[in-house]
Parts: sequence; C-alpha cells; structure tokens
Amino acid sequence: MSKGLYIHVPFCRRKCPYCDFYSVTDRSLAESYVQAVIRNIKARSESYDTVYFGGGTPSLLTGRQISDILSSANIADNAEISAECNPDSADRDKFEEFRRAGINRISVGIQSLDNGDLYFLERLHSAAQAADTIKNARLAGFENISADLMLGTPYQSKDTIISNIERLSKLGVDHVSAYILKIEESTVLAKCPQRVNACADSDTMADYYEAAVSALEEHGYFQYEISNFAKKGYECRHNLKYWRCEEYFGVGPSAHSCIDGKRFAVPKDIHAFIDSERQQEIVTDDSPCGEEERLMLALRLSEGYAIPAGSAGDRLIHAAKPLEMHGLLSIAGGRIILTPQGFLVSNSIICRLSEVLEEG
Ligand code: SF4
Repeated sequence: MSKGLYIHVPFCRRKCPYCDFYSVTDRSLAESYVQAVIRNIKARSESYDTVYFGGGTPSLLTGRQISDILSSANIADNAEISAECNPDSADRDKFEEFRRAGINRISVGIQSLDNGDLYFLERLHSAAQAADTIKNARLAGFENISADLMLGTPYQSKDTIISNIERLSKLGVDHVSAYILKIEESTVLAKCPQRVNACADSDTMADYYEAAVSALEEHGYFQYEISNFAKKGYECRHNLKYWRCEEYFGVGPSAHSCIDGKRFAVPKDIHAFIDSERQQEIVTDDSPCGEEERLMLALRLSEGYAIPAGSAGDRLIHAAKPLEMHGLLSIAGGRIILTPQGFLVSNSIICRLSEVLEEG
C-alpha cells in the first residue's frame, strides 16, 4: 500500500504566541534545508500517494524548492499533495508557482475572518487579507482549499463563529479545520495569565464548538474527525492515514513517522538535520498500532472504531451502552461512533474504553 509523506517546513516570519510547533525565523537556511529534505527522501525507496507540506510556513519556500522536493520522491499519479500556506506569504503568484510545482491542495492558516481574533493571536494578516488569500488560491486554479479556524479567543462569541463559517462557505472553501485554542505550556501565551484568563473557559468553549459543528453542517461541511469538516469527497486523505493507523514517513526536525513497524521522531534541531547525511530517527514505539491505539485514533473519526470479535468486543459493548444512553456515542453496524457531544469529552471516553480493552 502506498504511504504518506510528511515534510516539515520549519520556517516562520515570526513566532505566534500560542504556537508550539517547531520553527525558526532564520530563512537563510532554507536552501540547505531543502537539500537535506531531498537527501532524506532519496534515502528511502517508498512510493507515496499523499504528500503534506506542514509547518512552520511552507509558503515561505519557493515554487522551485517545492518542485525539487517533489521530484525527489516516488509519487503516485493520483496523489493528494497538500501545502499549508499563510496569508502573509502566499499571493496569487505564489499559488500559481505551487500549482505548477505539483501541489493540488491548499490549506490556508487564516485562523479567523475577524480582526479582533487576529489581533489577539498576533497574526501577521488581516481578515481582508485572509479572504483575499482564499480567493487567490481559487483564481490560481486550486480546486481543493481548506481553511483553519481557531475557537476560544477572548473576542469571540457564538455569533462571530457562525459568521466566520458563513463567510468561509461563501468563499467556497471545501474543507475546514476548527481547532479549540489550547494553551501549551512552552508558549509565550502561557506566560501571560491575563491573556490566558481572557480566553473562553471550558463551558464556553464547549458552546462554541457545538455552535461551530452545527453551523458547519448547515453549510454542507460533514464532520469526519473531531476538528475536521469537509464537503463530500474533500476529506484530507493524508491526515486520514494518521487516524487509520496507516504508514507515513516524516522528514525534518520534529516530524514523526509510523513506518516499518515502528514510530519514530526527528529531534527538533534544524542545524543537526541540515548537517547530517541522514536525519536522526528516535524510536518512540517499536510495536505501534495495537488495539488500544487503534481505538484511540479511530474514535476521533466519524466512521468510528470497528468493534473486535470475541470477549474484548463484548466487554466494549457492555461498557459503551451507558454512554450511548447519555447520547455520547452510538453503537451501530459493528462500530462505536462518538456523537458531537461525545467528541467534546472524547479523552475521558477513550480512557474508559481503553481500560476495558486492557482488562482482557
Ligand atoms: S501558528 Fe503557524 S505561522 Fe504561527 S508560529 Fe506556528 S507555525 Fe508559524
């Protein structure tokens, strides 16, 4: 089976205060970085049917750099090839270059179409620029466009979230990722208690999430994962591989892989990555995709988890029945499927059901 290829592009113009993804602001390293990515891709003889340029900010690379990377990999004809792009570094010319290089899916990191949210998040773009970026991606010929939305900033209300979604629908985006703002310990935001306290509390966040789910459904975006919504046929094939425990290879500092029967991670050190012939791969799990992990990942998806046969399945059904009565999940067609209410408390449901699996 073809695999997924993830390429981390660890460059950002400036670090956003809420973000803990690995990136640096020194873009003079970009060319030697691209060469190191190519060396690592060539060192394996895999074929890939999905490729995902994530970051960081892949739109800081040039079309030629993207093209060189893609030429070094063995990629299937019908592959989905995605690139994350930020409004401050992706104009129509950049989109046209990326399209010529082979990218066929764009994910725009807009976060919001409201200037209050963008101010709080210290993004480098305005709401008008975010909308223009989506229009430019379409004008450049992209037929598969995703946008990211952040839920839970201090300036939001259910109304502003619903209005953001209405505008995204009018702009014709095909896919929306709606993330709940999480305060990660290592971030600048975590060190500002006043700003943290101004963010939505967990009850408000739950209201926002439910409002977002219904507004997205109303506009034809089907929820296929806790945070991901798509028009039919526009689900992200690459990200589905993660949740379905399929194989993928990650290149670049902080990238993760699940391939050849193990999971491994690359250290977060761009200099070590550039200077080495092959990236350092630290094994984090040498027997991945066991039943508990499958359960944990599959319950994120609206297709749910296939209940195994035998006593483990019987125990799971027994434990899931009371949760079904509370409207948190359904048991149907041999699968356990979380409801939107269940998605909100997915961690505790997954914990409970994992314990039941372990008991065997
Ligand atoms: S949110 Fe995106 S642009 Fe901002 S620092 Fe993180 S990766 Fe870079």
